[in-house]
Amino acid sequence: MEQQVVAFLKEKESEMVEVLKGLVELESPSHDKEAVDQVGKQVQELYRKYVGGSIQKFNNEHFGDHYRCEFGEGDEQILILAHMDTVWSKGTIEELPFRIDGDKLYGPGSFDMKGGIVQGVFALHALKTLQVPLKTKVVMLFTTDEEIGSESSRELIEAEAKKSKYVLVLESAAASTKGKLKTSRKGVGMFTIKVKGRAAHSGIEPEKGISAIEELARQTLYLHGLTDFEKGTTLNIGLIKGGSASNVVAAEAEAELDLRVKNTAEFNRIIPLIQGLTPSKEGLSIEVTGGINRPVMEKTQEITKMFETAKEIAKEYLDFDLEDQASGGGSDGSFASQFAPTLDGLGPVGDGAHASNEHLRISQMPVRSALVALLIEKLANE
Ligand SMILES: [Zn+2]
Repeated sequence: MEQQVVAFLKEKESEMVEVLKGLVELESPSHDKEAVDQVGKQVQELYRKYVGGSIQKFNNEHFGDHYRCEFGEGDEQILILAHMDTVWSKGTIEELPFRIDGDKLYGPGSFDMKGGIVQGVFALHALKTLQVPLKTKVVMLFTTDEEIGSESSRELIEAEAKKSKYVLVLESAAASTKGKLKTSRKGVGMFTIKVKGRAAHSGIEPEKGISAIEELARQTLYLHGLTDFEKGTTLNIGLIKGGSASNVVAAEAEAELDLRVKNTAEFNRIIPLIQGLTPSKEGLSIEVTGGINRPVMEKTQEITKMFETAKEIAKEYLDFDLEDQASGGGSDGSFASQFAPTLDGLGPVGDGAHASNEHLRISQMPVRSALVALLIEKLANE
């Protein structure tokens, strides 16, 4: 059976490329509902053509509609996560057109993660066509707002993860030709810090002013000082604004802070420090809003076991050494991992996510698709 799946998918390589071309050329920036819905329709057609089974649509007012597709039968389920939105604004395709150069396939959203969608659909296509028996059903979610924090899909993702035995995420593999899977992800916190002081003319009566910018600078140094590379905890104020003119003591200043941690204990240690920022003198006020944006995905024993299964499949049937690594970024796998063992980075092998050199490796499309198919088979029938 395993060799058959591999051979079947290898024969589908050019068809996978053709299908991916169609998806890449339909652009889908997260904020453009109309555009994302076009891709949603296309993906639904692909799913119907290659897999079949029931498709449920979740209407979404502001962002694209989400889809839940079910394949096979069983009391238990394996969940597959894929997102259809990209970070690229409409029209990017004119500047960065779909193109193939040797083994590399370029185009906005190819690597993150339309290639993953194609590989996932073809994995199920192989299992279906070759009638590989599965004891559990496979639920695939196609969502539309991953790149902007999954506000409208989080509930759906978590509800499905709760019902699942395992979760597979078709996000791209870690950038390099090795295509390492992601077995842990840092937690992400996002905060806005607003400082209020008192305005005054900086020439005539500067002593009457209290500078919000000076205070924010002080707080920035304090927050950055909490960074601990050894623990994997980083704090970065990446955006700052404030003041009204160079000859006015600034009455207001504002900053955006990005927090990354490797474990929940660090969230618990650092967040109170952020929320507890206190002004250094009277006449100033500090307001902190925000919180955890994506929880930590920790490499649990169950995730380690899932990865070992994937590694064995890669070695035995696909003839390569699969590796894993930690990621500093969050994904929908971060949400799912709170409820079920989750393996992430099962999508394309390539490089350049969110960058103009975004591309994937064509020859790896059938390989990673087969990895997903065989992983589903093993996990469903264990
Ligand atoms: Zn992605």
